[in-house]
Amino acid sequence: MAVEQADGDHDGPVCPECGERTVRGSDKCFNCGAAVDSDEAISLAMWEYGGGLVAAFGFFLTPLLTALPAMYCAYRIYDRKPMSSYGILAVIVGTIVFWIVLPTVILPG
Ligand SMILES: [Zn+2]
Repeated sequence: MAVEQADGDHDGPVCPECGERTVRGSDKCFNCGAAVDSDEAISLAMWEYGGGLVAAFGFFLTPLLTALPAMYCAYRIYDRKPMSSYGILAVIVGTIVFWIVLPTVILPG
């Protein structure tokens, strides 16, 4: 683990990809080259985990309530984190299938 240094060089936001502290004002991580934008990096993680969480709640709350906000989260991160976006979409589809299949399994005929 590198020692945290606030020497005015690497005092920017933490890289969302590799976790290294980036150079303030830079839009790229010096370590891995990932795109970094102070506020955006934080909100990106927020949309990512928020979307996954909201999508997963569809199993309890029905996708009628969760599909749209979860899809919006997926849309917000799509250009930066397409794989996470697909993950959220997969969960949404899972909840929809779950709620369509569930009644047909429980209810006879
Ligand atoms: Zn990085």
